Amino acid sequence: RAALKLLQDPGGLMLPLAQALRETAEAVRPCRICGNLDTQDPCRICTDPTREQEVLCVVEGVSDLWALERAHVHRGLYHVLGGVLSALAGVGPGDLRITALLERVGAGEVREVILALPATVDGATTAHYLTDRLRPTGVTVTQLAQGVPMGGALDVMDDGTLAAALKARRPA
Ligand code: ZN
Repeated sequence: RAALKLLQDPGGLMLPLAQALRETAEAVRPCRICGNLDTQDPCRICTDPTREQEVLCVVEGVSDLWALERAHVHRGLYHVLGGVLSALAGVGPGDLRITALLERVGAGEVREVILALPATVDGATTAHYLTDRLRPTGVTVTQLAQGVPMGGALDVMDDGTLAAALKARRPA
């Protein structure tokens, strides 16, 4: 019904809406540092001097980053992997932004890496893999507490649960 209403007067709402979507789509690009989507590159988070530069939160996708931002629970920086390892779906380490993560951590400023990955088998596999790869750098690796429901995607969790899971994070 909403679509019909729009179609009955395309000039009223639909065309301006289409134009706005188009402008947004053209302006938004991935941040070269963290992988966030923003109208500026590097993104607003990476260029914010008030954020803790030593704490890096690793997430599967941009929607997880936005969920954490909405919940106001993380004051550090982010790293978007662009997926999780999956034998079934044929996703290997080379398909994710893992080299970029290791380079960021290797650059020296990062003290803690928080693995905020989904509570799924693939999420756990990815967390183990990253923990192994990060170990030689000497950085502290933590992950979300069990507050994340099994099979839970971060971006559909309520802010309170997400905040509790991050606060109660434990060594990976
Ligand atoms: Zn960024």
